[in-house]
Amino acid sequence: MEKFPYIIVGQGIAGTTLAFELEKAGLPFKIITDNTRFGASKVAAGIYNPLVFKRLVKSWMVDDVLPVALDTYSSLEKHFNTKFIHSLNILKPLSKQEHKLWEEKKEEDMLNNYISGVEAGTHYAGLHSFYGFGKVTQSGYLDTSLMLQTAFGHFVENKDLIQERFKYEDVSIEEGRVFWKKSQVAAIIFCKGSYSIYNPYFSFVKFTPTKGELLLIKAPELPQTHIYPKKVYILPVGKSRFKVGSTYDWDDFTNTPTVKGKESIEERLQDLISVPYTVEKHWAGVRPTVHDRRPVLGFHPEIPGIAMFNGMGTKGVMLAPYFAKEMVKIIQNRNYKIPPEVAVSRFWKS
Ligand SMILES: Cc1cc2nc3c(=O)[nH]c(=O)nc-3n(C[C@H](O)[C@H](O)[C@H](O)COP(=O)(O)OP(=O)(O)OC[C@H]3O[C@@H](n4cnc5c(N)ncnc54)[C@H](O)[C@@H]3O)c2cc1C
Repeated sequence: MEKFPYIIVGQGIAGTTLAFELEKAGLPFKIITDNTRFGASKVAAGIYNPLVFKRLVKSWMVDDVLPVALDTYSSLEKHFNTKFIHSLNILKPLSKQEHKLWEEKKEEDMLNNYISGVEAGTHYAGLHSFYGFGKVTQSGYLDTSLMLQTAFGHFVENKDLIQERFKYEDVSIEEGRVFWKKSQVAAIIFCKGSYSIYNPYFSFVKFTPTKGELLLIKAPELPQTHIYPKKVYILPVGKSRFKVGSTYDWDDFTNTPTVKGKESIEERLQDLISVPYTVEKHWAGVRPTVHDRRPVLGFHPEIPGIAMFNGMGTKGVMLAPYFAKEMVKIIQNRNYKIPPEVAVSRFWKS
């Protein structure tokens, strides 16, 4: 067994799923996390949706990543005796043209696992009238905040978590060996989400962080039966509350909610629902997206003890569990081949 611990920097969904995989593999680790830095995972609505509605295609690698994600979260639920994952169908309002496309595509083998019905002429309480609706199955949401909080308690109890801001000055590398605060470590794995744009070891990675804003509304007359997406998504979270989002901003990297963001979400919300609501909360976070929208994992091409697990973009809930397993395979066998499209090396001297 590896003598020195792995250091995971950041306890968002990436750092957390990776830590659980290291734990399963019997590899020692310490998480360094700074809770004063607000990660995207705490803001995320946590929705997993197997389809991309714009082109009505399957989400990238969904047949591989979704079963692993659901299996991982339900194992954690059993272990902690806490409910994190909520299965919930998506009810997508459709125009006449979209309805035609859904009717055609639902017959295709590759989509019928995920489309459970296409309707026209129906009406749903609380929503405006639409030509039709598409129903998506194998969708739902992860209560990211509860999952991370539960995991935090577990890692603290096991003395595997250090609460402080990681500083690059505390790292030294001598003859290929990596030290953190003068103690030798097996490797440092950066899971800092959008904060990684300032990582000097990985300045070659083409991050394009995307700020997003989200509202919590109370709408007692809107049924809590489905996730409703149309230019905005409405996610029922219980007690007449719904999370409503989101926005996309590539210029502002702050976690500050804005009036513009709130107005933009409310405008699209009003095009979708016909019942009254009140806004109770408003959050913002920054998604760790990269220019080709794929995860980023692996060891630094020239510094063997420095690695990254990042780039979960807009889909951390579905992607992180599968790629955390891939990351552990790389840790256990440096010759393990991951698809080049997710390897950190794809950005090296490109
Ligand atoms: C508004 C919004 C809605 C979203 N909705 C969804 C959704 O419905 N479904 C979905 O799958 N995804 C969604 N996402 C995307 C999702 O949030 C991300 O894919 C995911 O959270 C990324 O996780 P991460 O662990 O890589 O980064 P983060 O969650 O940002 O975690 C990074 C961690 O690093 C820590 N950190 C940073 N710097 C340091 C340091 N120097 N020292 C110590 N710790 C440090 C931070 O405190 C943080 O805990 C949404 C994002 C936003 C903003």
